[in-house]
Amino acid sequence: MKFQSKNPYDGKNIAEYTSLTSEELNQKLEDSSEAFKHWRKTPLSERTGLLKKAGQILRDNVDEYAEVITLEMGKPISESRSEIEKCAWVCDYYAEHAEEFLAHEEVKTDASKSYVRHDPIGTVFAVMPWNFPFWQVFRFAAPTLTSGNTGLLKHASNVFGCAEKIEEVFIKAGYPKAVFQNLIIHHDETESVVSHDAVKAITLTGSERAGSSVAQLAGKYIKKSLLELGGSNSFIVLDDADINQAVETAIKARMMNSGQSCIAAKRFIVIDSVYDEFVSKFVKAASELKSGNPSLDKTQVGPLARKDLAVELQKQVQKSIEKGAELLLGGKQEECFHEPTILGNVRPGMPAFDEETFGPLAAMIKAKTIDEAFELSENSKFGLGVSVFTKNTQKAMEMADRVSDGAYFINELVKSDPRLPFGGTKISGYGRELAREGMMEFVNKKTVYVK
Ligand code: NDP
Repeated sequence: MKFQSKNPYDGKNIAEYTSLTSEELNQKLEDSSEAFKHWRKTPLSERTGLLKKAGQILRDNVDEYAEVITLEMGKPISESRSEIEKCAWVCDYYAEHAEEFLAHEEVKTDASKSYVRHDPIGTVFAVMPWNFPFWQVFRFAAPTLTSGNTGLLKHASNVFGCAEKIEEVFIKAGYPKAVFQNLIIHHDETESVVSHDAVKAITLTGSERAGSSVAQLAGKYIKKSLLELGGSNSFIVLDDADINQAVETAIKARMMNSGQSCIAAKRFIVIDSVYDEFVSKFVKAASELKSGNPSLDKTQVGPLARKDLAVELQKQVQKSIEKGAELLLGGKQEECFHEPTILGNVRPGMPAFDEETFGPLAAMIKAKTIDEAFELSENSKFGLGVSVFTKNTQKAMEMADRVSDGAYFINELVKSDPRLPFGGTKISGYGRELAREGMMEFVNKKTVYVK
């Protein structure tokens, strides 16, 4: 089977990839299993040294790797560079903290000594998306390989060029053969990978549909799984918020990566008394964003990664308007481009409220009271994160228990940071990435008891 990688900006073909035969795939699985036997015994200091090196290679080649991202999925080039820098950061972070995170944990019991070890489990299979094609992979690979596991990557089929470059980073850094391998396969091959003895766990970032399918396989073969799925984060603006600061952050929170982020703010829930001011300033700021060729430094909003994604977003816009939403800005779509679009008077029952909107579409929602604002925020099947803007940070902290999401940010957009755990609740998935929690997901917490 052939995969064609296409530039979403001009529709030109970039490269063609041929899927692995079943013999080749099987060989890679066997190689992964073999590599694990040695890699798990490699001293931790050597593993962290290699990770540090991988981070350095990323930094030394920022422009080259950023360009591949931009060509394959259309991310504005300045953001692609930041993505590579962030990957280098997560490498440095785990290189520095792995020893502390993986140390034995002493527990006082009736034993003369009892403790918990953190041993690697084997091969971890990662199914990854195109929206942050380097970051999502390094977020899993940095902690997972460093704890002594081997990794297999099935990347989204529109970013196989990024997948090759990522494998190249590990090879250049000097990782032993098959510790990290890229698999060019169709997602229909997932079962043959998950069912293989070498594979002990699966991590997936992507849609609800893909997550559910992989979780079913993980259940069938009794393998651990971690899912990081979609989101419809709310961005709550209370009446005492600094509106200018809220608007500035809101634009970034919604429009970054041309709106294609699981943790982007998608539902802007604004208290009645400041709604008009917030919305008019947001519309003005969004109308000034520069859309166009993502390879240019000045571009802030590029094409969406594929035409079907832009068409889907357009349907959500149209259906929301049919159900009573008011078009305040944009609204048009052509090929992979979707104009930055703002809908006013959005309510539950409209796609802009109920569904994940993966593109530059902001839904403005009016709330009469703080209670109503939090109720609207909770009225979602998703649970990745919530932002709240207010001058009363003490009160905002007290209101954290009203939010069932995996993250709650006060006066800031929801963002991932290697030092903080990251993940969702409800249909946004389960498990945590990053920080110590991320490293603990794919280790065997082994109890040792000495009488
Ligand atoms: P997908 O979920 O289809 O793609 C993500 C990854 O999952 C890709 O590697 C894909 O492979 C793989 N995949 C897809 N179906 C299966 C399956 N049945 N079994 C195993 N793996 C599978 O996302 P799309 O690209 O189609 O985007 C659709 C929507 O998903 C977006 O509009 C957005 O709402 C959401 N999404 C959320 C992301 C997030 O960060 N949480 C990231 C990407 C999308 P392949 O490319 O070969 O199909």
